[in-house]
Amino acid sequence: MSGDARQTAAQIVQSYDGPPLRIMEVCGTHTHEIFRLGIRSLLPPQVDLISGPGCPVCVTPVGFIDEALWLAEHGVTIATFGDLVRVPGTERSLADARADGARVQVVYSPLDALSYAKEHADEQVTFLSVGFETTVPAACLVADQALEEGVSNFSLLTANKTMPNAYAALRQSADVFLYPGHVHAITGTALCEELAEQGVSGVLAGFTAKELVTALAVAVRKSQEGKPFFVNAYPRVVRPEGTPAAVALMDKVMEPVDAEWRGLGVIPQSGLQLREAYSAIDARKKFEMPHIEGKPNPACRCGEVLQGHCKPSDCPLFGKVCTPQHPVGACMVSGEGACSAYFQYGGGQL
Ligand code: SF4
Repeated sequence: MSGDARQTAAQIVQSYDGPPLRIMEVCGTHTHEIFRLGIRSLLPPQVDLISGPGCPVCVTPVGFIDEALWLAEHGVTIATFGDLVRVPGTERSLADARADGARVQVVYSPLDALSYAKEHADEQVTFLSVGFETTVPAACLVADQALEEGVSNFSLLTANKTMPNAYAALRQSADVFLYPGHVHAITGTALCEELAEQGVSGVLAGFTAKELVTALAVAVRKSQEGKPFFVNAYPRVVRPEGTPAAVALMDKVMEPVDAEWRGLGVIPQSGLQLREAYSAIDARKKFEMPHIEGKPNPACRCGEVLQGHCKPSDCPLFGKVCTPQHPVGACMVSGEGACSAYFQYGGGQL
């Protein structure tokens, strides 16, 4: 897009004079990029950008952290992305457990976790598998590889989520979804088309300034037409059919299950668990884990933030008791969390 065209997209957003419009950035990366690029300053007052549940760490329930702590207390090495280490469980975090001597290994990919397990045959290693359709295929690939190679000291603790039923659960929270481009690069656009037929509007957005402003321009302009719509404003990456090989791999290794989302409760068939054939590397089965129910901190409003019911700055703890250095809730820990974005870019002024 030329500079002129970019200015036109920005002007379209700025000149919106329709009724109040709530646009939900489903994806945490969108939230951060919109802040970082200063795109909020383009918005007229009647356009409200609200943050949604698309941060994998943020929607991971307290009980999952407690499960990981249970494993760590039973001598298992926890291999995890760094963000999860500081997320509070019911009473403590994995960082606290590590300080008390538990083995918590930060990894950058599921493959790193498998490599660590191979290099440490004397340890039982469990990878904390969180994330949406974007990251699930990598976990599935590693699950397949571990089983094929007979890596007997490796397992997965899953809390993976899928977006379709989450959109349905959130449909009252927003007028337009800004769909996460990387999720739909895997799953394709059929779901977005179906949602539009059911009255749910959305625009698929990329992550550059040009792509985000264009997606917002499409959202405000199409909203004024008064009919539900779907537009793929990220066609350079998202094809209608998605990535069938990745979807087939997910389907081979994992199956849908009812899943708890932090703040949203249980959403039917919105999670993934390892299929029976992969029981040997399913940490819950392998270590005969009891049912563990987490208790969220009642003072934290992450749940309302994730549903778009309040802004991070509405939380009384925001920026005072709860900061990125001393997070009370997951939304302040994660690099994709809404509270962290508001703190980093807006302080308490937004
Ligand atoms: S500011 Fe902290 S305590 Fe408040 S909702 Fe966000 S993460 Fe929870």
